[in-house]
Amino acid sequence: MVSSFNPTPRTLMGPGPSDVNPRILSALARPTIGHLDPEFIRLMDETKQLLQYAFQTKNELTIPVSAPGSAGMETCFVNLVEPGDKVVVCVNGVFGGRMADNVRRVGGEAVLIEDEWGTPVDPEKLKATLSEHRDAKIVAFVHAETSTGVRSDAKTLCSIAKEHDCLTIVDCVTSLAGVEVNLDGWGADAAYSGTQKCLSCVPGLSPISLSDVAVKRIKSRTTQVSSWFLDLNLVMGYWGEGQTRAYHHTAPVNALYGLHESLVILKEEGLEASWARHQQNHLALRAGLEALGLEFIVAEDYRLPQLNAVTIPDGVDEGSVRKQLLQQFNLEIGAGLGALAGKVWRIGLMGYASNPRNVLFCTNALESVLSGYNAHINKGVATEAVQEAYA
Ligand SMILES: *Cc1c(COP(=O)(O)O)cnc(C)c1O
Repeated sequence: MVSSFNPTPRTLMGPGPSDVNPRILSALARPTIGHLDPEFIRLMDETKQLLQYAFQTKNELTIPVSAPGSAGMETCFVNLVEPGDKVVVCVNGVFGGRMADNVRRVGGEAVLIEDEWGTPVDPEKLKATLSEHRDAKIVAFVHAETSTGVRSDAKTLCSIAKEHDCLTIVDCVTSLAGVEVNLDGWGADAAYSGTQKCLSCVPGLSPISLSDVAVKRIKSRTTQVSSWFLDLNLVMGYWGEGQTRAYHHTAPVNALYGLHESLVILKEEGLEASWARHQQNHLALRAGLEALGLEFIVAEDYRLPQLNAVTIPDGVDEGSVRKQLLQQFNLEIGAGLGALAGKVWRIGLMGYASNPRNVLFCTNALESVLSGYNAHINKGVATEAVQEAYA
């Protein structure tokens, strides 16, 4: 007999989804109302304002796309790139590679700038590439590469792009609410994020924000946007101001209750306080993991506090460690992705999951499981290292 699905509660410390704040889970269970109900329209308007706060922007076109982060990515490329357009794509991990794939699929020409996995995008390479490709129209890069745990210098990359008259598309899926994102301060033209990383919400929505210049570019396209669902010319009519909304699709009503609640929580805490909390818990986790003998693959200056990529001790089957963590401790950590598959663990401290309890829990659970292997780890010192980091 098929019966109701009741998942085992886990602690989610991978690359996302991250632990969902219980306040958000209860918001999701509130009564569904019509998507053109005046009360729902008020929620849509508030959500846009709260997203402007989170992205630090005055961009009017700041809305959640009704689909996961990848759809936010696709929205930016399908609307801003026309067939034949040259787009410089910075690739230093899995997600930069996906941007390049998006460019090609909409008929654009992707010019790649490649950097070593685990290192940030090199601004000097961007300068050189833009000097060589003077007809490039857009620069795209990932602010926080979740596949490696690297932060790139968004402000510098955006200003180089601007000097060369290029628009920018920035992947902020993992960075939003975990480290500083400041679209207006950077002068970014288009950015997309996700709900299931540092916003601690359920997966399935993608906040995006586009500058007035980007909107002008979309409105003056000579070809039609190839996706009907993601065509912002149409979506803008649905998410526009006030009561004059035109039906485009049915917004995921309850999912938006969840996003709204997560943004209210972020506003209550404050952006700076949220970044500081992520940093503090990262430093404590780092102390614990290094005491165990694990090493970070990213240089300190470029490390993301919300995504900790560490090496696997010799003689350890990384997959079976993750399996034991899940089975014995209901703890999920992430495997390596792409070129780093089998070489690293990715330990997330995102949003609601970024707290001292999880830091200590993960450190101790890893120590317990690794003790069952004939691997070189330091036993009995990690807890104290974590405590010292918080002291
Ligand atoms: C998770 C992630 C995405 C994709 O988001 P989905 O919600 O899984 O579609 C894109 N870019 C980065 C950097 C991510 O971490």
